[in-house]
Amino acid sequence: MSVVRPKKNLGQHFLTDQNIARKIVDSLGNEIPDVLEIGPGMGVLTQYLLQRNEINLHVIEIDRESVAYLKQHFPQLSNIYEEDFLKAGIENRFSGKFNIIGNFPYNISSQIFFRILAVRNRVPEVVGMVQKEVAERIASKHGNKSYGILSVLLQAFYDIEYLFTVSEHVFLPPPKVKSAVIRLKRNNVELLPCDEKLFTSVVKAAFNQRRKMLRNSLREICEEVPEKFAGKRPEQLSVSDFIEITQLIENLIKN
Ligand code: SAH
Repeated sequence: MSVVRPKKNLGQHFLTDQNIARKIVDSLGNEIPDVLEIGPGMGVLTQYLLQRNEINLHVIEIDRESVAYLKQHFPQLSNIYEEDFLKAGIENRFSGKFNIIGNFPYNISSQIFFRILAVRNRVPEVVGMVQKEVAERIASKHGNKSYGILSVLLQAFYDIEYLFTVSEHVFLPPPKVKSAVIRLKRNNVELLPCDEKLFTSVVKAAFNQRRKMLRNSLREICEEVPEKFAGKRPEQLSVSDFIEITQLIENLIKN
């Protein structure tokens, strides 16, 4: 492993602790056979995923050298896509639902979650390792400093568990920050009871000026921000509050 020089712009930090690798793979449920691993690298998670007989594994890896390594070391792995997860339209490779797992490239971890949200009805479960701070943000409830855009948008459609923290010392090279593993399970919300595009715009506008009261931060979307929420700041609103304010704004815009 030590002979491979990681490429900086690909967020390559290879996990070296086998027990943690196994623990991550064990965290993924077994209801859905099709599984996509994002960024397998040298296959530290892949090897344990392949040991699970019920899993039909697909991997997507952008780095050519890693792909060559995987092909050589895991000849039984037939679905290797040398592509960019953010561009690939990877859902087209699957006929039905598929779960996602990975030690995600940290430089694009938020974008990965936005992509997953876009195909959420195909993805019942995600187990991902990300920077600790991003994991906290995703799992955070309203009233917390780390609560933000990703927390609200993901929690609208997924139940989120912060599973465990991982030290920077078990990676090669070590990242600057600690990591954490989170699990997302799709909830039973099919459609939000409000206009989803407007919901997304409201959440983004509110958090883009997170210290301002909503009466100010949402002015561009709606001149008269509903009184119930006008004096609040975004971190005070639960996911259902954001749905409610979207419904109220929808009515105002219509009339
Ligand atoms: N799973 C391995 C590697 C994690 S590092 C381990 O735990 O050791 C992140 C991996 O994601 C790297 O192998 C990197 O090449 C890959 N990667 C980076 N950007 C990617 C992208 N856009 N699409 C797919 N893979 C990507």
